[in-house]
Amino acid sequence: MLAGSLPEKINFSRTVEEGNTIQGTIALWRFSRFALLVTENDPFVEVSLGFRKDMQQQIEAIGSAAVRVQLLCQKCLELLDYEVVVEVRTILVRDREALDLLTPSKDGIVVTSTLVDPVDIFEDELILDLPMAPRHESSGCTVSTSSESGDLTRQPFAGLSKLMKD
Ligand SMILES: [Zn+2]
Repeated sequence: MLAGSLPEKINFSRTVEEGNTIQGTIALWRFSRFALLVTENDPFVEVSLGFRKDMQQQIEAIGSAAVRVQLLCQKCLELLDYEVVVEVRTILVRDREALDLLTPSKDGIVVTSTLVDPVDIFEDELILDLPMAPRHESSGCTVSTSSESGDLTRQPFAGLSKLMKD
């Protein structure tokens, strides 16, 4: 087990033979597309990654990644804490054609050498794990659940005037 920062390129054919699981961190900024979608909370993504040969002698990357980020609540437009946790299984293929030949249930990425950037293995999954419309739990949101209309102007006395009329 290796702790600390993961190398930018991993020799997966050697890792297959050794049968190791690599554990460590990757700086969040290296996930350039994912980093654009979130506000940094923890600057590192924690990663665990191993490689094995499947029955067709294809190399499969198996791993998990987790990072705490902040997202904009779509109700009150303030930040909320969110933990992204993903499990990944993806076949490493040599070219686009091999990618098209994969069983539809399998994910794959194209890797042109014996080196792979772990960012390429995890980034799409991290992005897919983000909620489309992040929202606080109702108790933690500054906009009360009754104003579902999407009206974000706060009217602290609106409820009071309604009470008075009754
Ligand atoms: Zn909120």
